[in-house]
Amino acid sequence: MDQIINVLARNGLSDLLNFTQAFVALIDSSSVLLEWNPAFGQMLNRLPSSEAWLLPNLLAAASRPRFNEMMLALQPCRDNLQLLFEEEGFDFDCLLTSLPDGNYLFFAQPVGKSHDHELMRLTREINNLKHILDIKKIELEAVLVQAYEVSHTDALTFLANRKQIIADLQREVIACERYRKPFTIFMLDIDHFKHVNDSFGHAEGDKALIEMSAEMLKGIRHADKLGRYGGEEFLLLLPATALKSAITLADRLLTIAREKTIHLENDQNIRLTISIGIAQIRIGKESWDELLRRADKALYMSKANGRDQWTVLNYSDNGIISSRSALSRSLHRKE
Ligand code: GH3
Ligand code: MG
Ligand code: MG
Repeated sequence: MDQIINVLARNGLSDLLNFTQAFVALIDSSSVLLEWNPAFGQMLNRLPSSEAWLLPNLLAAASRPRFNEMMLALQPCRDNLQLLFEEEGFDFDCLLTSLPDGNYLFFAQPVGKSHDHELMRLTREINNLKHILDIKKIELEAVLVQAYEVSHTDALTFLANRKQIIADLQREVIACERYRKPFTIFMLDIDHFKHVNDSFGHAEGDKALIEMSAEMLKGIRHADKLGRYGGEEFLLLLPATALKSAITLADRLLTIAREKTIHLENDQNIRLTISIGIAQIRIGKESWDELLRRADKALYMSKANGRDQWTVLNYSDNGIISSRSALSRSLHRKE
């Protein structure tokens, strides 16, 4: 026996601890777990983390008084205790030995019928697999959320992409019909944007697009939705908004765009303007694509009239009417 202990001490007691299916742990005088071997660790993994650090939490209630007695004994104690696996108790042959430094070494070996052991082993396997499955499920959900975000977001501006903003438009039209709330949309387009690309290159054009969309985003309410409809064209949805406040917002966005200085390479600064087409839905009389076409037509009128302005194309009792911003472009040009 002494010889075996000497060999083990020389040739890897730690290998033995890693290999054995017996549970081995080091605890302090308050039964707090300090160290344990892998077999013991597997059992700990299945406990809520708040409970996993006290050894008596792993024991069936009936075994705890006996364990406390073992802790109080002055010499090594051996007894049959029940350890819990998924709230079911299994019999273990346990040994508790106090160490010179005041800590205790705890050994536990399964006893009882072999089918008990098999059941315990299978329970452990199944729970390990459940644990792995739970982790995979969380990972998969995260990937799906990411994939959804990517497929609905414009990669350059991080605004909603065309597919997403059209889906939002369809949803808002249904909602405003149901709740009889006004709903207005803007089609916005950056003026003479081709000139930016032609003069400074496509990469600088991208930068200007990013800055302009971020600036417009700052100017709208949380409930409003801005999406990149295509190229340098944007669709803005204004739920629960009638024309009067929509026009106030349009004036604000025109000013924001006009006053934004965009810094390009070689210390060059540029300013851009936008044009806006506005349409308010005729609830119950118009589909989402008809509304969109009307806003697009209004945008075209803003462009044709000199840009840097909004145009409303709306219906009245007398049929379709248009109105446009009162500000003239010359007034806007301060620089
Ligand atoms: P208008 O005032 O009539 O709208 O003139 P515009 O030059 O803005 O319009 P046009 O349709 O002639 O040109 C749009 C330009 O926008 C051309 C296209 O290369 C550029 N553009 C569209 N998407 C992007 C993009 O993602 N990045 C860059 N850099 N340019 C883009
Ligand atoms: Mg344009
Ligand atoms: Mg355009």
